[in-house]
Amino acid sequence: MKKKVVIALGGNALGSNLKEQMAAVKSTAKAIVDLIEEGNEVVISHGNGPQVGMINIAMSELHKNNPKYSLCPMSVCVAMSQAYIGYDLQNALREELLTRNIDKNVSTIITQVEVDPTDKAFENPTKPIGSFMTREEADLAIKNGKKVVEDAGRGYREVVASPKPVGIIEIETIKSLVDIGQVVIACGGGGIPVIKKGNHLKGVSAVIDKDFASCTLAKELNADCLIILTAVEKVAINFGKPNEKWLHNITVNEISRYAKEGHFAPGSMLPKVEAAIDFASSKEGRYSLITLLEKAKDGIAGTTGTIIK
Ligand code: ADP
Ligand code: MG
Repeated sequence: MKKKVVIALGGNALGSNLKEQMAAVKSTAKAIVDLIEEGNEVVISHGNGPQVGMINIAMSELHKNNPKYSLCPMSVCVAMSQAYIGYDLQNALREELLTRNIDKNVSTIITQVEVDPTDKAFENPTKPIGSFMTREEADLAIKNGKKVVEDAGRGYREVVASPKPVGIIEIETIKSLVDIGQVVIACGGGGIPVIKKGNHLKGVSAVIDKDFASCTLAKELNADCLIILTAVEKVAINFGKPNEKWLHNITVNEISRYAKEGHFAPGSMLPKVEAAIDFASSKEGRYSLITLLEKAKDGIAGTTGTIIK
């Protein structure tokens, strides 16, 4: 059966530098076009950890070496990462579609995601970003209003908040393109975090989790399925322990109970499971799938992955 799916790509779909990304997007494109070939309507989002880190370091080194170039805000770094990843990914998809004689345009939407300035996450920033700093650089950053933490003896790093997405600014544009059958890449890196100030959108120094942004995107597009593609074929309880058990078909209630019991790591699997639960419980008939990139086709056929209904 043909479905509307939002695919959230994890780090392994993109690699961690320019060369790796060029190679990785080729196999990523194959896995995605497999789903398009079966008639599914596909919208793609992705993470950007290594890429935004690279851009952030490059821009701060530039500023250090030549102060005439001012520091680049995190929101601008996210925008740059969306364009750089989207460029490689849309071209790999275009090539794969043409190879299979599928006539579809692919485009990347620079996407802003609204966050709530009163989100509790702003009171307790936890997400490390950018390069390591010396004590002196850290002091300067603190003077400039940044929150800095000492990172396990390796130096100082800026930490930013990870607020929840409230809405997608460019959602109508994304909808219009999806409705006429085009392939869209949106909400890269969780989206550029912005707050509304009257008519003005102000970029904020924060990182939105791509799994949560993808869930918002899937809900707003009224998708049937949220597919989170990552480095494991299934989600496990007792992960990495002798009594590890892989989950295949599971209900929202059951997996919510496992989440409460602490089976999913906070920085990696927990946001995926929470996003999957949120989407699957948002409307009758919606479900989520967490699996490996290479297993996307089998996962949507129901033969593997963790399927949350
Ligand atoms: P992505 O780049 O796709 O977001 P992450 O590294 O953030 O990937 O999250 C996926 C990782 O989560 C897996 O590779 C796995 O090592 C880890 N993980 C933590 N807890 C679990 C669990 N309970 N079941 C499966 N994987 C888990
Ligand atoms: Mg992750």
